[in-house]
Amino acid sequence: MKKIFTACLGTETNTFASIPTGHQLFEETCLFRKGSYGKNVPMFGAPLAVWRGRAEAKGWQVVESLCAFAQPAGKTVKKVYEAFRDEIMADLKAAMPVDAVLLSMHGAMVAEGYDDCESDMLAHVRKVVGPSIPVGVELDLHCNIGEGTLRDATALVLFKEYPHIDVPERADDLFTVIEGAVEGRSRPVMAAWDCRMIGVFHTTRQPMRGFVDKLSAMEGKDGVLSLSIAHGFPWSDIREMGSKIIAITDGDQAKAETLARELGREFFAMREATQPPYVTLDAAMARVSSHNLPKPMVLADVSDNAGGGAASDSTFILRAMLDKGITDGAIGMFWDPMAVRIAIEAGEGAELDIRIGGKLGPLSGPALDLRAKVTGLKRDASVAFGGRDKTYVPVGDMAAFDVGGIAIVCNTLRSQCKSLDCFTNVGVEPGSKKVVVVKSMQHFHAAYAPVASEIMYVAVPGAVAPDFLAMTYLNASKNQWPFVEDPFAT
Ligand SMILES: [Zn+2]
Repeated sequence: MKKIFTACLGTETNTFASIPTGHQLFEETCLFRKGSYGKNVPMFGAPLAVWRGRAEAKGWQVVESLCAFAQPAGKTVKKVYEAFRDEIMADLKAAMPVDAVLLSMHGAMVAEGYDDCESDMLAHVRKVVGPSIPVGVELDLHCNIGEGTLRDATALVLFKEYPHIDVPERADDLFTVIEGAVEGRSRPVMAAWDCRMIGVFHTTRQPMRGFVDKLSAMEGKDGVLSLSIAHGFPWSDIREMGSKIIAITDGDQAKAETLARELGREFFAMREATQPPYVTLDAAMARVSSHNLPKPMVLADVSDNAGGGAASDSTFILRAMLDKGITDGAIGMFWDPMAVRIAIEAGEGAELDIRIGGKLGPLSGPALDLRAKVTGLKRDASVAFGGRDKTYVPVGDMAAFDVGGIAIVCNTLRSQCKSLDCFTNVGVEPGSKKVVVVKSMQHFHAAYAPVASEIMYVAVPGAVAPDFLAMTYLNASKNQWPFVEDPFAT
């Protein structure tokens, strides 16, 4: 009987963010052992559930180890990373011999002393299993792939969609590649090409939509096993930071290299056209004034996206809404445990003076002192996200306040506003508002596009502000667009 070993360890580290990633953040976000999450599968645990299902359907044995993921923030505490890694290695040693290893990782995890945690993890895995056992890794497309990862992984399969609604589908793809290798039907070989550019690439719009569809259509034919686009995670000042194309073929290394290079050149050529159409706060507020469609305008507060490591308590857009006199709006979610606690103490229906947001530092803007009514409360809430198989994100206790017709949602576990539940959990119907502000870079798009008349990506100050030229990089290569016009010139 064949035996596979599976585990998940990851986070997306914003090396510019001030909040450290410690054990508590893993505990609050996702920390399970041997499948103990049960039916409420967390987003980065979804691959483990898929692999278990596929393997058991074949009569294979599955040894599932740790499933640990932390909400993005600053660097992971060294001891915390090492303890998780060593736990997975101890489980792997105990499970030996295995026929394959399948890992769910993010691809942009940085710990104190480890700029490239994935390469470190994979070096440890190789040391245990040896050179010939297939090791498959599923990564978020916002990954910075290092040389060690490319050397020690047999196959890397990345999410293709941003928003990431295809996590289980890509887990299926990776299983298929590794299954072929385990059964000796195929011999996956992999190549990567460095596109020498950084940016944000929404797959909901052209030209990325067509590019992703083109790659998908090429897979499974002519010896092409898998093609992935690594968008990179630019808020990480490490040597490995940047975008890549990954190509996996059946035994044909030269073909994998040609494919990666040709697709990489095509991706690079789209660099200008792919970047999101950011607008200023003034432009967004001017547009709100003239908006009179039946469905809401949705404004994305991209710079305060918890999913990229931001505090999710910045007040720049809320301040502008109040100044503008907007009386039919909603904004969320503010990570503000103190405001939630006060709302719970006062109770639903209470009117009170309260200080909201602006608590984490200068990038959060000034705290706002407001007269508010508590309109909704929910304890131990979670929000659902995803496409085929919904996954669950704990968001803690939630409170909704009404301030002059603007519904302000606060919660106690910092989390990106990526589903309608972020409002409906506390009785706010985003679809019925004139203006809805979501603290999210792009994951909101899947749930909010159907209820929106228009979507605007608003660039204000914040820990995930999309202005790479204004950031201080000391380790990442500056021979990348947009730092230089043509990084291939030299
Ligand atoms: Zn991502």
